[in-house]
Amino acid sequence: MNVLRAGILGATGAVGQKFVELLEDHPWFQVSALVASDQSAGHQYKDVVNWIGTASIPKLIASMEVLPLSDRLPCDFVFSGLHASVADHAEPNLAKAGYPVISNAKSFRMHENVPLLIPEVNPDHTALIRHQDWQSKGYIVTNPNCSTVGLTCALKPLHDKFGIEAVQVVTMQALSGAGYPGVSALDAVANVVPFIGGEEDKLVNEPNKLLGTIVDGQLHMETLTISPQCNRVPVLEGHLECVTVKLKSNPSQNHVRQAFNDFVSPIAELDLPSEPDRLIHVFDDERFPQPRRHLNLGNGMTVSIGRIRPCEILDYKFIVLSHNTVRGAAGGAILNAELLVKQGFLRSFTS
Ligand code: NAP
Repeated sequence: MNVLRAGILGATGAVGQKFVELLEDHPWFQVSALVASDQSAGHQYKDVVNWIGTASIPKLIASMEVLPLSDRLPCDFVFSGLHASVADHAEPNLAKAGYPVISNAKSFRMHENVPLLIPEVNPDHTALIRHQDWQSKGYIVTNPNCSTVGLTCALKPLHDKFGIEAVQVVTMQALSGAGYPGVSALDAVANVVPFIGGEEDKLVNEPNKLLGTIVDGQLHMETLTISPQCNRVPVLEGHLECVTVKLKSNPSQNHVRQAFNDFVSPIAELDLPSEPDRLIHVFDDERFPQPRRHLNLGNGMTVSIGRIRPCEILDYKFIVLSHNTVRGAAGGAILNAELLVKQGFLRSFTS
């Protein structure tokens, strides 16, 4: 297949940098446009980005000129790492101009015709694209909030096998989830901040959209009761979540464990370049998973689960770890784009 030209909106930000890193050797996509604010536009990428990655900036990218936001960009589609305040206007404008927009921003996640997508969970939700009417070939597809991703990947096998009634989740979210410069050092160091603006609402709503079903082309939301409490902790990358579930049936602890282990990705046969061998890895060692040790399983695309055990109040409890800027942001969006290629939604701009 022809390599598609990808633009990155918000290319100098925390998520934008992850896109740059992950797309360096991508077999299907090549970065052809880097977009940031007017302050950065017109300069070489290396001169305006505050590069936070551990590897150096890819050579071809370092000297590329950063472009201002516009609806005429030299690319076939865009990945968006914009804040919602900018994405609210920019993403529809680009869709109207004919660009597929694969977004990380919250702006359109809950829109009834916009897929909120985790390819291993709800690949059929891309059918909603057909209801979008931008008077062009453009459309918007979103990926969930970074803490929703780990939670929903863990809920999916239990929901399929046993049915879920209610979920309690307490998150311990990494600093990188707040972007750069993010949380002030005076708040972050040796401290826990027990509030992340807007995060708990996302954890209530987004899993219900992701686990919803498409009937006659329309989305029917799931109706799980979810009670989240979100905390920012002094960890660089990797969101850890303590999850408790009330199930509709009464499986043994072994059956719960087996449901995670037996989960087969519905897109496994598509051979998408960013799909990990296993969506879920279950640890037996009760000290695991830990962000620093297990963050990069499956190149950051695997969700780790540990400490599966009965709960004294609901049915079962366990720990979930996911990489917030890879699986929870840029890597998840790239996997979405790969699925859209295979499903025939993503082609070169001129075809
Ligand atoms: P960030 O580090 O603050 O980066 C923001 C980016 O947007 C920068 O490249 C900035 O460019 C650019 N920008 C700002 N105003 C602009 C404008 N008017 N026109 C064009 N570009 C503009 O933020 P982030 O953490 O990468 O987050 C980006 C988005 O992803 C947000 O919607 C966030 O909620 C979402 N998200 C983040 C994570 C995470 O783990 N960090 C996870 C999932 C989703 P300049 O450098 O020129 O200012």
